[in-house]
Amino acid sequence: MGLESDVNALTSEVSGTYLGPGVDHWICKLSGDGIFSVSSLRQFIDKLQVSIPGTSEILWSWVVPIKVLCFIWRAVQGRIPSAVALEKRGTLVNSLWCSSCIGMNECADHILIDCPFATQIRNNILSWYGVRSDQSSIKSIGDFLHFTATWGNCNSKRERFTAISYGLLWNLRRFRNKHLFRMEGTLVRQGTERIKSMVFYWLKHMGKNVICNWEEWLVSPFSGL
Ligand SMILES: [Zn+2]
Repeated sequence: MGLESDVNALTSEVSGTYLGPGVDHWICKLSGDGIFSVSSLRQFIDKLQVSIPGTSEILWSWVVPIKVLCFIWRAVQGRIPSAVALEKRGTLVNSLWCSSCIGMNECADHILIDCPFATQIRNNILSWYGVRSDQSSIKSIGDFLHFTATWGNCNSKRERFTAISYGLLWNLRRFRNKHLFRMEGTLVRQGTERIKSMVFYWLKHMGKNVICNWEEWLVSPFSGL
């Protein structure tokens, strides 16, 4: 009852379908060559989300682990498990306050950009770059990705700058989880050093180019470029 029109539509569709000769095969309509790739699917989703700034500015660099890139992609859309996001999905959370500063609600932008802890580490990293940034222009993850994507004129430096920026965001989430779930705090200096060492490891083991040594890296992330 009530399904007659659906059944008729299905019958009509099936009756107009004929099996051709040969072996069955799949064709992906998202890509020009008919072969499915994750990037073609991601680009399709990004096109549907034109209202979310930042997704199109992510550099899908092979130097950065794919799990980190996927995290950045979800974070700029506010789709990481913050207290605010979990509450919106109907999960019972003890408090919406940020567990680090206990001063504001914990959303993705707060964890990675707004929180004083995040701001201090970002300032440390930016001063290591030797980059003077107008922090007032960075209010959201999308702003930070735009800042990263449009920084400087040298592609090699911008690629390295991008890897460090993504390492910064990835680690801020890790520090937050460590604090929340294991009750282990991270000092600003300790967190900054952790980001430097992790990105150095990425570049050394996943990059195509030879990277400077550790001592040079600590002086400037652009050593050797
Ligand atoms: Zn906070």
